[in-house]
Amino acid sequence: PSNNGEYDLCVIGSGPGGYVAAIRGSQLGLKTVCIEKRGSLGGTCLNVGCIPSKAMLNNSHIYHTITHDTKHRGIEVSGAKVNLAQMMKAKDDSVKSLTSGIEFLFKKNKVDYAKGVGSFEDPNTVSVKGIQGAPDRTIKAKNFIIATGSEVKSFPGVTIDEKKIVSSTGALALPEVPKKMAVLGGGIIGLEMGSVWSRLGADVTVIEFMPSVGGVMDTDISKAFSRIIGKQGIKFKTSTKLLSAKDNGKSVEMEIEDMKKNKREKLDADVLLVAIGRAPYTEGLGLEKIGVEMDKANRVIMDSEYRTKHPHIRVIGDATFGPMLAHKAEDEGIAAVEFIAKGQGHVNYNAIPAVMYTHPEVAWVGMTEQQAKESGLKYKVGTFPFMANSRAKTNMDAEGLVKVIADAETDRLLGCHIIGPMAGELIGEATLAIEYGASAEDVARVCHAHPTLSEAVKEGMMAAWSGKSIHF
Ligand code: FAD
Repeated sequence: PSNNGEYDLCVIGSGPGGYVAAIRGSQLGLKTVCIEKRGSLGGTCLNVGCIPSKAMLNNSHIYHTITHDTKHRGIEVSGAKVNLAQMMKAKDDSVKSLTSGIEFLFKKNKVDYAKGVGSFEDPNTVSVKGIQGAPDRTIKAKNFIIATGSEVKSFPGVTIDEKKIVSSTGALALPEVPKKMAVLGGGIIGLEMGSVWSRLGADVTVIEFMPSVGGVMDTDISKAFSRIIGKQGIKFKTSTKLLSAKDNGKSVEMEIEDMKKNKREKLDADVLLVAIGRAPYTEGLGLEKIGVEMDKANRVIMDSEYRTKHPHIRVIGDATFGPMLAHKAEDEGIAAVEFIAKGQGHVNYNAIPAVMYTHPEVAWVGMTEQQAKESGLKYKVGTFPFMANSRAKTNMDAEGLVKVIADAETDRLLGCHIIGPMAGELIGEATLAIEYGASAEDVARVCHAHPTLSEAVKEGMMAAWSGKSIHF
């Protein structure tokens, strides 16, 4: 790589949006450089997000299964205990192997990697302040993609120290299992991390401002979720707001208010996880200097081809509009470079799945029933419980259901919501169906292998299309 080289494409940020855009850009013939200031590739997702959280979720689930779910299967286990340091090492090892895997993919695809902090000098030039011994450099490019991602949203008056009052990053690296943990925010990240520490032995209380947990989840699924996860021992305080939280040296002292009962109470925990969401991150990028605009929520403003005010500077992923999900960022990365290299690209925003990796998992795609109602569409609903699915029964893991929403007149699939084992894998089928404009009948008529969990999806589709499933 030349130090002051001219590039066709310069990508700023190497999260799932940025690294995928850089690789695809190079594959499409663009001379590409990717700037990253973290010291390791992969962004939030690989370093402190999707990947480490899934490592902890999987291993804490195995521990929980061994200690709570073996006897009735005919397996007697004694002496199982958590070696947290080893569990953390296993998590760190998977992060390391995946982030270095991207470095390898950059080499393989001839993407230059500029280690450092990128900042616009003018609309055609980015300066890079080198880190870890990398030299400072100036990069000129014909096209730029801003893929700088997001950061943790803080709660006014509560200082995150990443030891006792932690963000998701601190919650992924606690040195010991807290006896008591409070989680502020019942969204995906809070519920996943709450599950991890609850399974490892913490007494977890989730404080949620809204009347239900799960954010934008379909109401039926959210209700089922609270019931199932509640049985696992996590406590929910919904319609509740946090008034204050401070570290008194020994523990975190909180005051909360139940807004339904108008009642205040004190709460005490060893660790408080603040998980109230994330905000776009563009600090130090010099956007003001080049006149690229942001909205009130700090999202970089763009058009339908991801172009900012300067058409050769595009923006993708968490830094702009839409759900803050890794696969959404990746697909935008591919579409953005296709616009640059070929003049056209495409992401179907009606077919972006969301998954919560608790146990059971929750996954959905398309419209919720509330959204279908609000949009004035005539719709029909089909449901199918995993209790009636043979594979779930043989696995002794049969809590949850599939809920299908289809257009009442045309039978077109509008949404699919699953709470149950492997929901995150099962949702792929419904996503494909929505992408292809399939009807519920189309999916119901596809031959599904027996006995598999996917038969529950087929039967949910059958219930939506014809009003009746076979096994329930
Ligand atoms: P990011 O991944 O945030 O990457 C941006 C990168 O840009 C960063 O590495 C940053 O260092 C770099 N950068 C910023 N500014 C500069 C600069 N000026 N110069 C150079 N580099 C810069 N999503 C899912 O889909 N599935 C999940 O299971 C999931 N789990 C999650 C769990 C947790 C705990 C968290 C926090 C998030 C999770 N997410 C998950 C969300 C997911 O991580 C994000 O949606 C995704 O990482 C966004 O990708 P991105 O490329 O837009 O930005």
